[in-house]
Amino acid sequence: MKEIKEKIDQSNNIIIVGHVNPDGDTVGAGLALLLGLEKKYPEKRIDFVLQDDVPKNIAFLKGCDRIKKIEDVINPNYDLAIFVDSATIERVGKVAKLIGDIFKINIDHHISNPKYGDINIVKDISSTSEIMYSILKDLDIEITLEMGEAIYLGLVNDTGNFAHSNVTDKTFLVASELMRIGVNNNKIVNDFFKTKSYERMKVLGKALSEMVFVEEKKLMYFYLSFEALKNLNAIKDDTEGIVEELINYSGSEVSLFLREEESGKIKGSLRSKHDIDVNKIAGIFGGGGHIKAAGFTTELSSEEIIKKVVENL
Ligand code: 5GP
Ligand code: MN
Repeated sequence: MKEIKEKIDQSNNIIIVGHVNPDGDTVGAGLALLLGLEKKYPEKRIDFVLQDDVPKNIAFLKGCDRIKKIEDVINPNYDLAIFVDSATIERVGKVAKLIGDIFKINIDHHISNPKYGDINIVKDISSTSEIMYSILKDLDIEITLEMGEAIYLGLVNDTGNFAHSNVTDKTFLVASELMRIGVNNNKIVNDFFKTKSYERMKVLGKALSEMVFVEEKKLMYFYLSFEALKNLNAIKDDTEGIVEELINYSGSEVSLFLREEESGKIKGSLRSKHDIDVNKIAGIFGGGGHIKAAGFTTELSSEEIIKKVVENL
């Protein structure tokens, strides 16, 4: 931890980056770090840059308007990059171009993370936000309500509202501490889960009525073409959570959601209920993540992907 502090002290232009299609953990951890560093080091330039927009049900977090898009960065002469929640450098998408080979701090919780940073804080715990809470404490940064809400949303996002097997007594301690400083659990959870768009409800309805169950492998899957997404007037954010619904079926041990992107590539999401290691399956397609939640993007067709997944289960 001393190393991180020294590195931040020495740097004047710091870029914080998170993964493409940002979720509550990337945004929460990155935003808490941005707000914390800005407060502690008002003389430094600190940017938090993401390739993609923050989804609507996360953008309510205070300070989200400070997150930059690549187009907003005029002079990318950074001397330190801090990666949050990004299992590989490629996961940050086009933002990687702003970084090059400057010093990298890698803060993440994915078991597939190859520790690509010059300093790596990679722990197999609930979320990057849970790691960030400890880092901010170690940096002697006081956690304000805004930072607390961001971290809390990260915990809620990656633990499925404190339901997944990655929740430990320490996760609850962090949550409890955040509530003590004023975070309103009910408000965060409602703003995050109960503000779905009409289109999102419709896409979910389509998934639940057209999903396919492969009995021998206890696999529930659903493929959504780009055309079908357009026909429902939906956007990719509206498909968040489908893969979690597919694993809810009592017979499912593993779920797979495939979404065709405009480019024709397919984004896959996998979830496992008990022992099946979906990180390994995502690895077949060049992706990764965790044992019980993983993803990938591939040029293969949906038929080829499903065939390979079934073969490897
Ligand atoms: P999701 O299916 O919700 O997109 O992602 C599930 C988990 O897998 C997350 O922890 C996410 O960071 C990780 N993940 C998703 N897509 C990819 C990918 O293309 N590559 C890697 N390495 N991890 C991914
Ligand atoms: Mn995460």
